[in-house]
Amino acid sequence: MSSSTRDLTELFSERAAMARPGFVGTNPRRIADTIAFSGGYPDPGTLPIQDIIESTRVALERDGEWALQYGFGSGIPELVTQLSIKLGRDQGIQAGPENILITNGSSHALALIFELFVNPGDVIIAEAPWFMGAIWRARASGCDVREVPLDAEGLDIGVLEQTLRDIKAEGKQAKFLYCVPTFQNPSGITYSLERRKAIVALAQEYNMPILEDDAYYDLRFEGDALPPMYTLDDQGLVMYCGTFSKTMAAGMRLGWCVASPQITARLAGLKTDSGTSPFSSHVAAQFAASGTLVEHINHLRPMYQHRRNVMLSALEEHMPEGTTWTVPQGGFFIWMTLPDGITCADLAARCEEGGVSIGQGAMFFYNGGGEQQVRLAYSFNTDEEIQHGVQVMGAAAHDLQAAAAAATAD
Ligand code: PMP
Repeated sequence: MSSSTRDLTELFSERAAMARPGFVGTNPRRIADTIAFSGGYPDPGTLPIQDIIESTRVALERDGEWALQYGFGSGIPELVTQLSIKLGRDQGIQAGPENILITNGSSHALALIFELFVNPGDVIIAEAPWFMGAIWRARASGCDVREVPLDAEGLDIGVLEQTLRDIKAEGKQAKFLYCVPTFQNPSGITYSLERRKAIVALAQEYNMPILEDDAYYDLRFEGDALPPMYTLDDQGLVMYCGTFSKTMAAGMRLGWCVASPQITARLAGLKTDSGTSPFSSHVAAQFAASGTLVEHINHLRPMYQHRRNVMLSALEEHMPEGTTWTVPQGGFFIWMTLPDGITCADLAARCEEGGVSIGQGAMFFYNGGGEQQVRLAYSFNTDEEIQHGVQVMGAAAHDLQAAAAAATAD
């Protein structure tokens, strides 16, 4: 009898066949081996370890019996209550327990929403460029993605309207629009109020749900807060997703979706995991109830502003003429466009040799593009590392530019 492993791939579902193979056996710590401009990792030095130890102690002493028990349902009541308070206070979102679903990070909320709406072949609309995690999810669902470009104020509204008209003319219906209106990942841009209103108006006209992913809302360090689209719609079309990953700790794996009861109830039905970690949830509820969450966010904002400034100055100093970049008012990312003659793939390879990883633009498009664009996260590294990393990247870009000029002259 042969002892070789059988090939079972033919038995896999269509969905699994469309998904990309995941990372198996990799050590997440390897991100620290490079200067990592590539990932969306929070700053390691500010992770609130002592406060989380304290919140854990209080939560376990008070509620240990339930923090260590199954947590069937849409979320443990203590966390749902704290989230409801936080959303009302900070986001202007009025949400009761019937509107809230706690998930294993907001990635999980996005995945459930894809599951709720999308059959293979269904149309969804997305930003171009857009969040890689959502792109992976879209691929696994086999949907037909219509990308709408971003300008400095958000989704290009003319293209969005034309896209909706085209979809209708095909006799189809967009299942939802996915967007990150605040400190967008990867571009760092924020949709203006006018643009938010115009998108909601189109959503209402075309009966198009909106998946508003607001992962970075709390990390504004400049400019006035803008209302989430959830608050601009009165017809239950917007599903609002958020996360504690950027404000408390990504390792808590806690996110949420706020939506109409019809949607939350069905998402909860799809979520067959016996409850999002009650342990993390009790700790996070205490972290929020004690006021530590607010204090911590107030501490993070100027820190990320400083990091952004360090990266902007380094880009000014080291990048060749013709390079452009966005200036985010919050969040983690700068989106850089390279001058003609340099591709991101070449730049990434050269940076890698110098111990620097960058986010290649092409990864943030579904239907192609981004070859000359780069996502740079300023969130994870120290000032010195950012300065050194940009210096390495700038030197590589100058070399590539000189090589391109020499090749043209030949
Ligand atoms: N949405 C966006 C726009 C993100 O950048 C991220 C994290 N990189 C997520 C969702 C997922 O976050 P989490 O699953 O950790 O809540």
